[in-house]
Amino acid sequence: MSEQDAKPTEDSFSASRENSGITERAAGDPGVLEHLEAVLERIDRDELIRFTRDLVRIPSVFCPGTPEGNEARAAQYVADYLEGNGFDVRMEEVSENRPNVWALWSGDRPGKTLLFEGHTDVVTEGRAEEWSYPPFGAELVGSRIYGRGSCDTKGNLAAAVMAVKAIKDASVPFAGRLLLCHPVDEEGMMSGIKQFIRQGHAEGVDGAVICEPEENQLCVAQKGAMRVEVTVRGSMAHGAMPLSGVNPVTRAARFVVAVEELEREEISRHGEDPFLGYPSITPTVLLGPESGEPQINVIPASAYVALDIRTIPAQSHEEIVTRLEDCLAELGAEDPDFEAELEVIEERPHTKTDMDDPLILAMTAAYKELTGREPRYNGVPGATDGTFLHAWANIPIVTTGAGDRTIPHHKDEWVDVDELLTTCRLYAATAMYFCR
Ligand SMILES: [Zn+2]
Repeated sequence: MSEQDAKPTEDSFSASRENSGITERAAGDPGVLEHLEAVLERIDRDELIRFTRDLVRIPSVFCPGTPEGNEARAAQYVADYLEGNGFDVRMEEVSENRPNVWALWSGDRPGKTLLFEGHTDVVTEGRAEEWSYPPFGAELVGSRIYGRGSCDTKGNLAAAVMAVKAIKDASVPFAGRLLLCHPVDEEGMMSGIKQFIRQGHAEGVDGAVICEPEENQLCVAQKGAMRVEVTVRGSMAHGAMPLSGVNPVTRAARFVVAVEELEREEISRHGEDPFLGYPSITPTVLLGPESGEPQINVIPASAYVALDIRTIPAQSHEEIVTRLEDCLAELGAEDPDFEAELEVIEERPHTKTDMDDPLILAMTAAYKELTGREPRYNGVPGATDGTFLHAWANIPIVTTGAGDRTIPHHKDEWVDVDELLTTCRLYAATAMYFCR
């Protein structure tokens, strides 16, 4: 939930820098702080705003079948900007006209590699007439940029680009490499980051900052997810003669009730995660018939149940599947006509980065240096591209960025430019502390 007082603003940054004894603390690490100042001076607020607004004005909603309905133009905009600023840029199509963009910048000495990840796609704007401002107008009202993707996550993408550019342009000593990674399809099946990893582009990365709207809280854990489909078989019959058939609707309903009990058991067994709260098993779709025209006087041949399962690090996905299968087996033991199949159609592991991981230590040091305060640690309720960077490529991740955690995917999405500037400074400072 949003916590107004936990949000660092640019004002609080300036104030805290004056009052926080930055010079005394600098004694411990004069090198980083001396150069950090030079880097922060290179961050141009106006350019950050301009880049964010330009990017929001390029609709990058994925709509299959429409030639313009993808991320290509947004990806090209990012690539052109980076190329124009002296970066070595790579583009690679994940599917037709849906390119990932990335750029690797190396400091003057070898060292660790830090990745900044921010996706180029956005979700649909929904009904444009319900918005107070045009969804792709990127209007600047007071200190807010309104528009689809301003918060999730084009503002944060811009902050990452400006942070890396500031380090490059400041020409400070830098031990390591910074990788800007802007994949497609985060809001869909995450095919962009999956391909990026499969092609080996994430090899050698020591830490990843996932640039998503988290009110600049440092999110160190992410819930896992499973999407499960269950088909319950029956036998068609006239509604007036139900005994001549097998009704899959009542049997699917029994499964739904059993799932509710299973959820209670999982919660009592694993409790509440400090960052992620409780796990859940949620039936989201119940269809009978499974397909075709429903008719009130016909018992359908089959019914369909979909489950949206969200997990915490204490749970095992394998064990949950076993327990779901046990549920079906028990229902079958009670009823010889009960017949059902279960399929896991998507699995996204939960993630947790150790609190003493160098990435969290670097980001914590950066946050404290910039604000004079302890950061707030939290978790991400949904999956992000970071899920796969952590689970498939074994990369420690922290998810952070500007923007109200509850705003993404809503109408009237917005991001505050002062909060965004804070994010940009936090990204830059994290890189300076991590790569040294
Ligand atoms: Zn996002």
